[in-house]
Amino acid sequence: MSNLEILKICYLLGSLSFIVGLKMLSKPDTAKKGNLFAGIGMTIAILGTIFLHENKEGEGIGNLVFIFGGIILGTVVGYFAAMKVKMTQMPQMVSLFNGMGGACAALIGIVEMDTHHPEAWGERLIIFLGLMIGSVSFAGSMIAFGKLEGKIKDYGSKFQQIFNNTFIFAILALIVYVAIDHEVSDSFIWIIFAASLLYGVLFVLPIGGADMPVVISLLNSFTGVAAAFGGFLYDNQVMLTGGILVGSAGTILTILMCRAMNRSLWNVIIGAFSASSSTGKSTEGLSIREISVTDAAILCAYAQKVTIVPGYGLAVAQAQHACHEFEKALEAKGVEVNFAIHPVAGRMPGHMNVLLAEADVPYDKLKEMDDINPQLPNTDVVIVIGANDVVNPAAETDPGSPIYGMPIIKANTAKNIIVMKRSMAKGYAGIDNELFYDTKTRMLFGDAKATLEKLIAEVKNV
Ligand code: NDP
Repeated sequence: MSNLEILKICYLLGSLSFIVGLKMLSKPDTAKKGNLFAGIGMTIAILGTIFLHENKEGEGIGNLVFIFGGIILGTVVGYFAAMKVKMTQMPQMVSLFNGMGGACAALIGIVEMDTHHPEAWGERLIIFLGLMIGSVSFAGSMIAFGKLEGKIKDYGSKFQQIFNNTFIFAILALIVYVAIDHEVSDSFIWIIFAASLLYGVLFVLPIGGADMPVVISLLNSFTGVAAAFGGFLYDNQVMLTGGILVGSAGTILTILMCRAMNRSLWNVIIGAFSASSSTGKSTEGLSIREISVTDAAILCAYAQKVTIVPGYGLAVAQAQHACHEFEKALEAKGVEVNFAIHPVAGRMPGHMNVLLAEADVPYDKLKEMDDINPQLPNTDVVIVIGANDVVNPAAETDPGSPIYGMPIIKANTAKNIIVMKRSMAKGYAGIDNELFYDTKTRMLFGDAKATLEKLIAEVKNV
């Protein structure tokens, strides 16, 4: 069997591992293995390319010192970055890594044009498009990173939207022109590169800072498409499969996130959520009732059914382990405990699943919103821990609310509600929450982790 034939088998194995790995990623209990599986496939494809690829003259790719130098450097940086990153900073990291993928796709375009000067218009078009999409993804991801870090503010106007739309059409027109007419100087590639970088910056700047996870998912799909173009260019099946999978998975994720927030992608892109002047129904004049840690512990320990609704505040407080301890303490008292998981609770898709899985909460206790909602009227106590928007009844009752139409965890239908947060501060959508003023609700103020630790001690004493 020739080297190239073995390489084709490596690519087939790589492609298969991506598909199977992705499938495994869709369930929390197989996700870790799925990631590993796809990683092994990727390693086979990369090593196969390095050692088995030959050009028409039968020469290998060479440059092994540079290639392995780069791989080792990247592995070390990636490993330490991933080990150090806090769960709440995960979107930043994804954004940074995605930007690197976009930059790679852009570099492929520049290098290809520079070394091969292709004349076929189809090949030129693919190079230019890959360069453009990769550059937009790189620059956009860097701005998204800056916004998530709180270093870059939202900036945008109606005029900018019109400018952005005109600008992108101008870039596309230029690409078609220089792709068809190969007599045009190849140095146009630098103009397309610079213009695409600028577009990436202008595209992400107006989008609300807290909408960044949706944008990152969108940019991620762009990177996938750019990589797929690279696959076309090199006639490389594994790059094509990987790119298509990333592109389609990113697009599906973007759509699902928008749907879970009941917003259109366009609404996210024009920054309408954060720019919305509506703050929903006023809660002025309404009063809240507090509960002590001891009373909350008694209420929970004597309940038959308790449902925990985790939210962004749980991640901020890093209270996932305490949350699991609390669940176990209640179960030791014979209480049935479940977790109600809202699809956009937290700040990234699957945030709560990942957080609770880290604390070894059994997967069968994590109930999806549509499954748990019908059970809530029969639930004695719902404990909302650091969640706000995802339990806000205004999404169902107030057409003037910016979150109207977003499906919610119907905590208000339970017999008793305890809300754990530090203050009366608003959540991500910046609106008041009527649930806190409900006659069945008691507020338990304090940092989620510290309060949970006190609750655990009290429950054990009951
Ligand atoms: P929210 O952002 O609505 O509310 C979080 C609450 O946590 C705050 O009100 C805050 O109140 C409280 N909190 C913060 N820190 C602590 C702490 N240390 N201890 C206790 N409480 C704390 O979160 P939700 O999860 O309810 O909603 C997520 C929001 O993010 C939704 O609006 C969703 O649309 C949006 N979003 C989600 C994405 C995703 O993919 N998951 C993507 C983009 C947006 P206080 O300061 O008083 O403590």
